[in-house]
Amino acid sequence: MAGRFHLVTLGCPKNAVDSDKIAAALGADGLVATDDPGAAALVVVNTCAFIEEARQESVDTVLALADLVDGDARLVVTGCMAERYGAELAEALPEVHAVVGFADAGAIAETVPVALRARPDRPTPSGVRDLLELPRAAPSAPWSYLKVAEGCDRACAFCAIPSFRGTQRSRTPEAVIAEARALVTGGVRELVLVAQDLAWYGRDIGAPGSLAPLLRRLDRELAPEGLLRIRLLYLYPSEVKDPLVSTMLELGTVVPYFDLSLQHAARGLLARMARWGSGDRFLEAIAAIRAQEPTAAFRSSFIVGFPGETEADHDALLAFLDAAQLDWAGFFPYSREAGTAAADLPDPVPASLAAERIRECETVQTAITQVARDALCADGARLEVLVDATDDGRAVGRTHREAPEIDGVVLLEPGSGSGAWAPGSLVDAVAVAAVGPDLVARAQETVR
Ligand code: SF4
Repeated sequence: MAGRFHLVTLGCPKNAVDSDKIAAALGADGLVATDDPGAAALVVVNTCAFIEEARQESVDTVLALADLVDGDARLVVTGCMAERYGAELAEALPEVHAVVGFADAGAIAETVPVALRARPDRPTPSGVRDLLELPRAAPSAPWSYLKVAEGCDRACAFCAIPSFRGTQRSRTPEAVIAEARALVTGGVRELVLVAQDLAWYGRDIGAPGSLAPLLRRLDRELAPEGLLRIRLLYLYPSEVKDPLVSTMLELGTVVPYFDLSLQHAARGLLARMARWGSGDRFLEAIAAIRAQEPTAAFRSSFIVGFPGETEADHDALLAFLDAAQLDWAGFFPYSREAGTAAADLPDPVPASLAAERIRECETVQTAITQVARDALCADGARLEVLVDATDDGRAVGRTHREAPEIDGVVLLEPGSGSGAWAPGSLVDAVAVAAVGPDLVARAQETVR
């Protein structure tokens, strides 16, 4: 048990990056990862506090692990719940030895008693403990998230994130490039850039509009070292304009994948959410991008059942989905978050009605996604598949249309192409069948 840690990650991709850094910091502090919580001297749960459902999952996970940890081991809770409900959480969960917020998350190893450390003689490293700037563990897949900023400067009425993640804190381009280079050197071929408000990157350090120049540097400096793709997640719609869009479409490594954070389409409801835009403006932006790049892929997520959402608002969202023909979309019930502007709004939408509206949205969107996937097969579309993993001779990968962990995947038919599909190879393939959101493709050759 001595010197081992078990780390559980809940929540979004941004949390996954934090966990990666926590793992690297624990490794630097002399601890070794284990899949078995019962064999660990330190069990860390990186929690999510986004909505009630996520908080419940976090608490359930902590309680389940409390039953499994060894008597002498330390159970530590970190992440968004620790940051948002620190003292309250510590009081409610006596099973937990420490509740550690972001500011201290780099020092989690210090909660392990000296006797249980692998190398008690080894002093814990001093110096940088800022989670955002901690080094990463070696990548285990040919793609990786890369967090370029933390926090958010906006005040969307439903969102509590700025209250506990703080205002935006952008990393320097040098720090981002250095982390990207280490990932690419370690075998990463696709970088997925994340932040709470990615297109706002740089504004807090006096450099608004810094994302496009950052993309240029990543492309110029790392494509020669093996970087094949850069993907952007979480673009606030008002920022989806030139020069960002033109840069995305121009650079060979940046995939034409637009993850637009739209939240709704009814203009009045968006204003109530304290968000920019309207369904019409979103459609204009999408059409302008498609006119330049017909293969561009679009994803978005929507909140259903926000206070005051009327039948007309809901119909506007359904009509928008039909017109926008997004490749992918997620629908989430509004969750009332204490301390947010929306928490005090009148006219709540009953949960059963919100659930019914979500079902209607999903029905519309599932059909749209299916038609698009079927059309790729009917056309025999040429696909450039980046292989993520191989399993029993079958390779699983993604084209520019699929973000990792969120969208569908592409399965390569066994026996097609050269069959030399190590993770990280780029395979030229033809779409032959759609299985729900996934595609089956026949490989032609290994491109790179
Ligand atoms: S942009 Fe809005 S929804 Fe996104 S993190 Fe910031 S406040 Fe929350």
